[in-house]
Amino acid sequence: MKNGEHEAAHGGSESERAMFHPYWPDVDLDTLRVKFYQLYIAVEQSPAATAITDTEGRIEYVNRRFLEVTGYSREELIGKTPAMIQSGMTPDHVYRELWQTLRSGRVWRGELQNRKKNGELYWEAETITPVRDDSGRIVRFVAVKEDITERKRQEEELRLLASVFQTGQATLITDPEMRIERVNQAFTDITGYLPEEVIGETPRLFKSGRHDKHFYAQLWQAVLETGHWQGEIWNRNKYGDIYPLWQAITAVYDDSGRIRHFIAVFHNIAERKRLEEELEQQATRDHLTGTQNRRAFDVAMRKAVRQAERSDNTFSLLLFDIDHFKSINDQHGHDTGDIILKRLATLVGQTLRSTDLLARWGGEEFAILLQDTTAQGASIFAERLRQQVAETRLHGLAVTISLGIAEYRRGDDPEAILARADSALYRAKRAGRNRVGIADTHE
Ligand code: GH3
Ligand code: MG
Ligand code: MG
Repeated sequence: MKNGEHEAAHGGSESERAMFHPYWPDVDLDTLRVKFYQLYIAVEQSPAATAITDTEGRIEYVNRRFLEVTGYSREELIGKTPAMIQSGMTPDHVYRELWQTLRSGRVWRGELQNRKKNGELYWEAETITPVRDDSGRIVRFVAVKEDITERKRQEEELRLLASVFQTGQATLITDPEMRIERVNQAFTDITGYLPEEVIGETPRLFKSGRHDKHFYAQLWQAVLETGHWQGEIWNRNKYGDIYPLWQAITAVYDDSGRIRHFIAVFHNIAERKRLEEELEQQATRDHLTGTQNRRAFDVAMRKAVRQAERSDNTFSLLLFDIDHFKSINDQHGHDTGDIILKRLATLVGQTLRSTDLLARWGGEEFAILLQDTTAQGASIFAERLRQQVAETRLHGLAVTISLGIAEYRRGDDPEAILARADSALYRAKRAGRNRVGIADTHE
């Protein structure tokens, strides 16, 4: 028998010989001891945490790396079972399956979450191998473990990213040099770009030209300093259209604090902005006639007064009121009266310059702010307007208006100008209607 021959040749105890058989069948015991020592050193210095247990799972040996990883000393571990480092996070069936595999002589591979002496959790990929003696009996187990905490963390991060990806928000992920790595469906929906058209590009591709260097510099300064920026930004889509986005940019760091990714999440706010503008317009507009309302007019008047105070510019205020409107309502009904109001507003609106402002001041009374216009200029305008209204049938009816004019005077507040225009209008009515009244300069 081969084994017997070696024993005869080299002597030594049966168990020592068995341990090294059949790797070094021809060497003597001293050489075996050297070989054993070399092996021991290799395992001891291995970067893989290694443990050897007996068949009951009691720890016989752990290498240096094992001690480093777990934080325990050899004295604390030898004679104990790996239950010492179990986290309580692993389901029981995993251990049952592990022991079944080992007892049946097969290698077990798996991932376990363990706990260090200081309580910290960590992930290991383990390979546990049953070791047999000469007779084929399992005598111990060798566990070799690799720390996979970082990989698990990355997997977790990817899962998180995947969940962000599935939201309706457009999402774009770049590497630390801002080259695009991934985009989602919502990104394609908003920008028109397919993933293969943007991967490897940088987001500079989407620049609209609406923001200056300073804007982007501030944005990136915020991202790099605080890890985050959000705000409104105008981009250009694949078809060249420029549109507003609400965008949040977040830096993703690794354990050592280096940036690994930037993630931008955004949605198109063009529709929201349109609604905002519409609301704003509605707030300043008269609902019946579509002209500006009294509030907007007050604002414009205060602004005109401030500007006139600071410059040599002047402006004039023109008030007008429909003549005998009560009887139009009485004869043709209130609805017809409303139509007349709308038609009149449209007609007057067509005669104005873009800098002039028409507002519905009250029921059937309107005000016009005429920029850079003296009382003289305003009276020419007013007279033309009076004639035009008188000559135009509104909804088939003949309608006339009376008008009152006042020009800004140094020291005026809006109320003073209004009062003068109002009394000029009153005089026009008193004088027989369908005419223009001009406030006296000394009034
Ligand atoms: P005048 O101005 O020439 O002195 O006579 P008037 O009949 O027009 O008298 P006044 O300006 O005082 O009357 C305003 C009338 O306008 C009263 C009201 O019934 C009518 N009115 C006010 N607001 C509206 C409106 O929104 N729709 C309609 N259809 N009528 C209105
Ligand atoms: Mg009136
Ligand atoms: Mg009237």
